[in-house]
Amino acid sequence: MKKTTGMDRAATRKWRPQTQAVRGGTWRSEHGETSEALFLTSGYTYEDAQTVADRFAGEADGMTYSRLQNPTVAMLEERIALMEGAEACRAQASGMAAMTASLLCQLSAGDHCVAARAAFGSCRWLVDNLLPRFGIETTVIDSADNAAWEAAIRPNTKVFFFETPANPTLDIVDLQFVCDLAKAHGITMVVDNAFASPALQKPMQFGADVVAYSATKLMDGQGRVLAGAICGSEEWINEVLLPFQRNTGPNIAPFNAWVVHKGLETLDLRARRQSENAVALGEFLEPRIEKAGGRMLHPGLPSHPRHDLAIKQMEATGPIFAFDVGTQDTAFAILDALELVDISNNIGDARSLMCHPASTTHASMSEEARAEMGVTEGLLRINVGLEDVADVIEDMDQALARAGIR
Ligand SMILES: *Cc1c(COP(=O)(O)O)cnc(C)c1O
Repeated sequence: MKKTTGMDRAATRKWRPQTQAVRGGTWRSEHGETSEALFLTSGYTYEDAQTVADRFAGEADGMTYSRLQNPTVAMLEERIALMEGAEACRAQASGMAAMTASLLCQLSAGDHCVAARAAFGSCRWLVDNLLPRFGIETTVIDSADNAAWEAAIRPNTKVFFFETPANPTLDIVDLQFVCDLAKAHGITMVVDNAFASPALQKPMQFGADVVAYSATKLMDGQGRVLAGAICGSEEWINEVLLPFQRNTGPNIAPFNAWVVHKGLETLDLRARRQSENAVALGEFLEPRIEKAGGRMLHPGLPSHPRHDLAIKQMEATGPIFAFDVGTQDTAFAILDALELVDISNNIGDARSLMCHPASTTHASMSEEARAEMGVTEGLLRINVGLEDVADVIEDMDQALARAGIR
């Protein structure tokens, strides 16, 4: 009896999510390998001239060149599409390659893009610097304010672009409201879902058109490779994204695709456990931080202004949160006192990592833009890992004490 392959859409779409994560997008070679093969090749050879002519004419399936197709990359794309509940996916070299391609493939001079002001530093750079350079108008708004989305729409608004939860202030966007608004105005929604991953949040269930990823984060989950992905309808991917992607070449390396493909098998387990650990650490920190006059920004805690919305639209609230300890001196003192948790600006990793956004991930922005987004001098952001959370709590306890927060 022939086993179902992970590339057989009719069968794999019926699988439950964890089965899709482990078996979806498995495309076995004639050797029948258990673990997916790594096809490190840039080109392909053909039996005869007509075969390649047919492939280039789009009249026959098959590989022609790794900027256009690669079997390892195709396996990753199929697995991500299944997990996202998307018709199609194209992998990218990095999260920023994914964000850049998602925007530039569909925006032209004279179009308008509305974006969330709280965003990853480089995402804000695209909106503030790159798009305007090509005559694309942009407006940044407080993404947690539903009325602000509505008020920003102009006749030429073509795209809404945002993260939820947002980096690093953990703003939560009302997905249902913003998706309905976009639909009513014929606007394409591009959601950067890096902080949640498809294990914790599926924006397409609310009507999002395009979901873009830094797969460097939770999808790899072990801090090994840069990777990105863009999910959308078959029509949008083929007609809007692919002409841009195939001719500009932001492709992921097959090796990196293979690493992320294996990472996806454990994504659900990691994302849920790291979310639990993040809530436990947040509950420990909150009274200490508040007593010291600081502020918690944690969507998994009831003190977050959109906690109810976060738990409604997410399976769990993710591994990342932030807290404000007042000054850069105190923030640096805490970082320098850490013995277990690393000082690192990466997120989604199995290790607990902490950073000071104002001097790292958001350092290239103007002081006014940082202030407007809430990236204050005393803000610290943590990615809670897969260690025993009791050890992370102990480390944070001693680091706070050494920084004078008791
Ligand atoms: C990290 C990150 C990116 C950029 O991804 P890279 O893989 O580093 O290029 C984009 N958006 C968000 C929300 C991120 O956290």
